[in-house]
Amino acid sequence: MALPSLENTANRQERFPRLGCGNSSGDHLKASIARVQGDFKNANCAKDFKDPNAAINKATQVGFSDQGTPNFNSVNGQVVPAAHSPGLGRYNPFTRSINLNAAINWVNPANTNATLSGQPYNYNALAAMANFLGVPSVSGAQLMDITILQELSHYKGAIGNPDNPSVEKSLWNDCIN
Ligand SMILES: [Zn+2]
Repeated sequence: MALPSLENTANRQERFPRLGCGNSSGDHLKASIARVQGDFKNANCAKDFKDPNAAINKATQVGFSDQGTPNFNSVNGQVVPAAHSPGLGRYNPFTRSINLNAAINWVNPANTNATLSGQPYNYNALAAMANFLGVPSVSGAQLMDITILQELSHYKGAIGNPDNPSVEKSLWNDCIN
C-alpha cells in the first residue's frame, strides 16, 4: 500500500511510510546529519542534487520542531494517514528551513504515539517506511537519514518531486543502499 503524500504548499509535511540505543533524539540527529553528509561522497547520491555542496551545508541546519501527533483513519480496514496529518518532517519553502517532527519517537520510531480515528494508536514508522519504499526493513537510523535526504531534495533536488514515491525510492537506492 503506497501511502498518500501529506504535503501541502505552505508547509510540506512528510508522509509516513526511522535506534533504540538510549541516546537522545538530538544525538541521533547529529549522527544522521554526519551520515547524510557522507552519503554525498557517493557520486550516485550527489547526482540526485542540483547543488550537493549547498545540500551538505543545509544539512547542518536540520533541527526539530513540534509539528504535532500523527493521525490516521481506518479506511476499508486499512490504516491511512488523515488529511493534513503531521508527518515525519517538514521543508518550509519560504524560509527554506528543514525540521524533523519532534512528535515522532526518533529514539524508537516503531513505537510512535499517534491516533487512529481519534483513539490512541501505536504507529510503527519503520514498518510504514519499509512498506512505502518496498524494502524488507528500515532501521531507525535509515528512517532519519531518508527523511533528511528527502527534505534536502525539496531544497536542491535534481530528480523530480521528492514526494513522488519513485523519487524517494531513488534517493534510498542511490544514497542509503
Ligand atoms: Zn516532501
